[in-house]
Amino acid sequence: MPTYPTYSELVASQRTFFQSGSTRSYAFRKQQLEKLYRLVADNEQLILKAVHEDLNKSELEGFFADVGYIKYEITHALKHLKRWMKPQRVRTPLTHFGSSSSIYREPYGVNLIIAPWNYPFLLTITPLIGAIAGGNTAIVKPSELAVHSSDLLHKLLSNAFPSEYIACVEGGAEETTALLQERFDHIFYTGSSSIGKIIMTAASQYLTPVTLELGGKNPAIVDESANIPLAARRIAWGKLLNAGQTCIAPDYIYVHRSVEQRFRESLRDEMIQLYSSQPLDNPDYTCIINDRHLSRLQRLLAEPTVYYGGEVDRQKRMLAPTILTNVTWDHAVMQEEIFGPITPILTYDSLDEAIAQIKKQEKPLALYLFTENKQVKQQVIREIPFGTGGINDTLFQFLNPNLPFGGVGSSGSGSYHGVYSFQCFTHPKSVLSQTTKFDLPLRYGRSKTALQIIRQLFK
Ligand code: NAD
Repeated sequence: MPTYPTYSELVASQRTFFQSGSTRSYAFRKQQLEKLYRLVADNEQLILKAVHEDLNKSELEGFFADVGYIKYEITHALKHLKRWMKPQRVRTPLTHFGSSSSIYREPYGVNLIIAPWNYPFLLTITPLIGAIAGGNTAIVKPSELAVHSSDLLHKLLSNAFPSEYIACVEGGAEETTALLQERFDHIFYTGSSSIGKIIMTAASQYLTPVTLELGGKNPAIVDESANIPLAARRIAWGKLLNAGQTCIAPDYIYVHRSVEQRFRESLRDEMIQLYSSQPLDNPDYTCIINDRHLSRLQRLLAEPTVYYGGEVDRQKRMLAPTILTNVTWDHAVMQEEIFGPITPILTYDSLDEAIAQIKKQEKPLALYLFTENKQVKQQVIREIPFGTGGINDTLFQFLNPNLPFGGVGSSGSGSYHGVYSFQCFTHPKSVLSQTTKFDLPLRYGRSKTALQIIRQLFK
């Protein structure tokens, strides 16, 4: 019988390995990123099978997020890592004459990465890329709800990496709670805002830095100048990818009253175009992760008018693409993150009113705006706080590694992707190097003149 280390032994072994300095060199990080790339590329079929078994994801959807973007992020990191690792020289003010200033990116050390079930590979491996690029060790904890993906992640990572460098721990709330008793140097959590509070509380016992990638209700605003058919197509795609179980999916649509009917009809037509008029029989339509979530989604349909969809197949755990109208802010569907293929449509008469209403809610992770009006675009960007957004598009901002990805307030703190992942897993250690060739006596001075000069310098 193999003996598994306890969580404390695992963390201790990672700390020893990190402190040996093995993870820090450019050569080591590059080699591990290349290994991770091969792991994903060589096991593409197994990954696609696992996400199909967990969520009925089609090959296209599975590849798009749980394989393709991961490979793209690794390639991007490999291309830029050497430059990211270089200490960055910054300007030094005249007050520090004779000295130079630099920022060194210091790996945090032992990281805990906790992932959700909706994109099980993407949301486990993308942060891991940042941890490796940053020169850290990591323990990853996939979601227990995506059973097949969690099992495969465990097999792949355990075979490819020694556990004192990268380990995969499986389990749910109980195991995560036990893991959180350990001391980490950084915790990276992706999941709901409510569990995010538990993570932050646990991290506070050691003052461990945390990155929180959370959720919320993402508005999509469609104004009267918008290209309605295109807006409907891009919203339908962004909403129905993964059957709406996407943290940055448009949660609800806020449409100008004058175009509401046209938009609603176009949205229905685009949903039919994407998954046919019999979506529950469509082999490419993603299912809901479990019965509990399906029941929760069904309950959200009770109050408003179901304009389109609403059918359920409990056997297949599927809910048809659904559009709700006559929705008010008091309805249950507007009280929680939907995280499913239900699209409530609300109407507004003035943009100011819509902005004020959105600002009364928690700061969203994502916001989308469909408009042809530049002033509207400027006003929305200026006035509404949100984590990440798209103008005349949905979801695509996630796929640009040059944009930081993350929420704000209750939708998260910290960001990652591309260089931001590297920064997320490293501390900017700032160092001033002073000359010993001379020593300006000014700072030691006690005279009025010295004080006057100092006053001038610090104006
Ligand atoms: P969740 O919060 O239920 O679970 C996430 C992780 O936390 C899992 O690994 C789970 O095992 C663990 N967990 C569950 N209960 C716990 C507890 N009591 N103590 C400690 N850990 C616990 O989230 P989920 O249902 O897996 O994912 C859906 C949520 O995640 C949505 O709110 C969505 O918006 C959000 N999300 C955010 C992002 C993002 O990048 N910002 C991405 C995907 C999902």
